[in-house]
Amino acid sequence: MNQLLARGRKLRAELDFFPQYEGLAYEQLCRQRLKRVDGSTVEAFFTGMLHKKIMNVCIRQAGLSPEQEAAEADPEKLRRVFALCRRLPFTITGSHPFESAQVCRGGVSLREVDLQLQSRRCEGLYLAGELLHVDGRCGGYNLQWAWASGSIAGAAAGMRRTGKKTGKSND
Ligand SMILES: Cc1cc2nc3c(=O)[nH]c(=O)nc-3n(C[C@H](O)[C@H](O)[C@H](O)COP(=O)(O)OP(=O)(O)OC[C@H]3O[C@@H](n4cnc5c(N)ncnc54)[C@H](O)[C@@H]3O)c2cc1C
Repeated sequence: MNQLLARGRKLRAELDFFPQYEGLAYEQLCRQRLKRVDGSTVEAFFTGMLHKKIMNVCIRQAGLSPEQEAAEADPEKLRRVFALCRRLPFTITGSHPFESAQVCRGGVSLREVDLQLQSRRCEGLYLAGELLHVDGRCGGYNLQWAWASGSIAGAAAGMRRTGKKTGKSND
């Protein structure tokens, strides 16, 4: 994403706050609410479905006011509120700064190291973790890569120092 932003690309995203409601229509979900709509505000009508602040954004984007009476609200606009909860559009203008990054892209290409993670350009230099051009999604993949590659590179570097062989081919 940051790479695309750096290239000046406009990024749009749509958030689905109810992925578990796939296939569930507004009428089904709000059937009970529609029965007792009398006197309540639009905000009260949607109470409990989403965090109030997010729901109010959807309500306003649908052309309604949270304070107005739900019974007098245009039914199409009420339906639109729910539709927005399923596909709320955003323009992505930036991300948190480098200091907040969990993982960074880039690094030494895997083509430039052998199977023991020794540099092909600089003998005796072993690389691991984020120094290499490997990155994954959140979920433990980056830590796993850091540990696994660190173990391989560390063992190989230690063997090299003591003159022992790891038993693995360099390619
Ligand atoms: C806040 C946060 C949360 C994260 N959560 C997850 C997660 O849930 N799951 C997941 O898989 N990954 C997660 N990551 C990513 C994961 O932690 C990293 O990808 C991984 O730790 C990278 O390991 P590394 O050994 O390459 O680098 P690092 O862990 O950054 O280790 C590099 C080390 O080198 C040291 N160092 C730097 N410069 C020098 C120098 N000149 N001389 C000597 N030492 C130096 C640093 O102090 C540091 O100890 C998270 C990262 C952050 C920042």
